[in-house]
Amino acid sequence: KKPIVAIVGRPNVGKSTLFNRIVGKRVAITQDDPGVTRDRLYQEAEWQNRYFSLVDTGGIEIDAKERFSKEIINQVELAIDTAEIILFVVDGRTGITPDDREIANLLRKSKKEIILVVNKIDNKKFEDNIYEFYELGIENIKSISAENSMGLGDLLDDIVEKF
Ligand code: GDP
Ligand code: MG
Repeated sequence: KKPIVAIVGRPNVGKSTLFNRIVGKRVAITQDDPGVTRDRLYQEAEWQNRYFSLVDTGGIEIDAKERFSKEIINQVELAIDTAEIILFVVDGRTGITPDDREIANLLRKSKKEIILVVNKIDNKKFEDNIYEFYELGIENIKSISAENSMGLGDLLDDIVEKF
């Protein structure tokens, strides 16, 4: 069975953009409006001849009646239950939000491999933005730009190293 890698994070941080980059095609629908239901959320991915299943939890609607942040928490719990490796995506432009803190607290309690992915670091002038995220208590931090693929190779190296 292939390892499962799950992408979690609050809406609009770039989870679906990252998902599409890694699987190499536009499968997840990226949206400026959060909370839109999407399908085809599990895809096979490959890096350096290592294969894994990638999941975009942001598109999995668990209970539409729940308040929005509760829904995110449910998605994180699903990821903790099913995935070997969790990519926790945050927005390196907006900084830490209360939802980020809530997600980080859940993830730290789990025994899973967590990589904190600071996205939207589109060029060097944003590199210093990553430091505030150490406060979330997750040691393994990678900065990327899902939009222009910066840092993706390093991130994928790190993922397949953990299998
Ligand atoms: P999701 O809700 O977490 O799945 O986020 P999406 O992938 O739908 O992206 C939300 C918004 O952020 C879209 O407008 C994307 O174009 C934008 N976005 C995603 N990745 C990047 C990035 O690396 N840099 C910048 N500047 N914008 C990004
Ligand atoms: Mg999405």
